[in-house]
Amino acid sequence: MGFEEKRVAIVGGGLGGMSFLNAALYAGLKNVQLYEQAPQFGEVGAGVNITSNANRVLDAFGLQESMTHKSSHKLPCYMQYHNYHTGEYLGHIDEFSQPSARLLHRAHLLDSLKERVPESSLNLGKRLASIDRNTGTAAAPYTLRFEDGSTTDADVVIGCDGIKSNVREDMGLADSPIYSGQVVYRGFVDYQDLPENTAQLLRRTVNFRGPRRHVLVLPIGNRETRTDRAAIIGFMSEPLEAWDSESWMSRSDIDSLHKHVRDWCPQVQNIIAGLRKGSPDGRMLKQALYVREPLDKWYEMKQDQKDAGIILLGDSAHSTLPHQGQGTCMAIESGIALATILRHWKTDDLESAFRFYQDLRKPRTDRVTQTSYEAGKLASSDSPDQMTSNFNPAALGERMKWIMEYNVLEDVRTKGAEYMDFQDSRL
Ligand SMILES: Cc1cc2nc3c(=O)[nH]c(=O)nc-3n(C[C@H](O)[C@H](O)[C@H](O)COP(=O)(O)OP(=O)(O)OC[C@H]3O[C@@H](n4cnc5c(N)ncnc54)[C@H](O)[C@@H]3O)c2cc1C
Repeated sequence: MGFEEKRVAIVGGGLGGMSFLNAALYAGLKNVQLYEQAPQFGEVGAGVNITSNANRVLDAFGLQESMTHKSSHKLPCYMQYHNYHTGEYLGHIDEFSQPSARLLHRAHLLDSLKERVPESSLNLGKRLASIDRNTGTAAAPYTLRFEDGSTTDADVVIGCDGIKSNVREDMGLADSPIYSGQVVYRGFVDYQDLPENTAQLLRRTVNFRGPRRHVLVLPIGNRETRTDRAAIIGFMSEPLEAWDSESWMSRSDIDSLHKHVRDWCPQVQNIIAGLRKGSPDGRMLKQALYVREPLDKWYEMKQDQKDAGIILLGDSAHSTLPHQGQGTCMAIESGIALATILRHWKTDDLESAFRFYQDLRKPRTDRVTQTSYEAGKLASSDSPDQMTSNFNPAALGERMKWIMEYNVLEDVRTKGAEYMDFQDSRL
């Protein structure tokens, strides 16, 4: 039975929405449209780390070649730690499992996710204003209203519209995101703008951890496609005063980051100099880090119809702090789980399908959210563990192993065997 023919409307074309669209095509949902508010696709200018648990899914979609074309490969380890003050090597975490992590520009990941989807399923410049819950003889259970005055009908609505989700608000979930106490400064450094020894060091994932701050460097891209750059993420504890909390995202003087790390090691000073060289206006991205408490229920059912409903996916449902690099990865996992369930569910009872999906995903996403919060606390304490004999990179790796080794495809197959008909499935 399933919901193969239902009109599915995805709200939001970020990495979560585009992953779900890929998953929908892969699973065989026939009638899916995506609505993105921006006039064109774009991602914030920063790098992203996609770990093995999510790469397993993207590889199933057939995106391995396209992704590896523009991402780093054969990195020597998952992450390497250095003393913030002396620059001294402190230890590293080995890669967890295959396929290994891929580090790339967010725009390149979005390009890969766009590759296989038909243009006709993408609707840009469509900012969702509200959702009508129709009654009686209406042509559809839901009508989505966009700010440009247009509308569309849908049976199933998937809210992939990020941490400030309109869909979530429309469902009456009025909680507010919470400021984490940290901001991130993000920018890129070209390797040629670094002294040779620092450039060599930053061709691996490096974490300089200092008191209440750390600087993470992701070596994104590769030399062959000239996409290689060091993506800099400076996590700094700052009060929210003087911050335009409406936008959360702004540009800041590189000086503001420099103030935090003025007495840090020469390698970090080289990073600051490299950032300046690559930024003609002397500015870089600055973002306040917010998170929401895990939500009890991710979906809402249509009162008078058992095969229609609204559900959240990605940051709208399970936003997390980025200290384990899992926000996008979780959205990718959730996408394939939800699409498979919708396509192969044995009955026409959508609520049971949504409930199964939530039961499958929520324990994991709650745990990732909680452990990411804890990892952030550990990394941002007044005296971070590397300054004591407690510092143990192997233990940090052990903490994250369960995240990376997970196989959502297998989990859906195993736990869903009773409820889904996997005939014709590519899972
Ligand atoms: C500093 C930092 C580093 C990170 N690093 C990593 C990492 O290495 N690995 C990782 O897995 N995750 C990482 N994350 C997390 C990751 O960025 C997010 O979890 C992920 O982007 C969420 O995707 P999303 O599609 O759910 O939401 P978003 O990316 O927020 O996308 C939402 C989309 O919905 C659109 N939209 C919003 N409102 C509407 C509306 N009303 N109508 C129509 N469209 C709308 C938006 O324009 C946007 O395109 C990081 C996050 C931060 C802050």
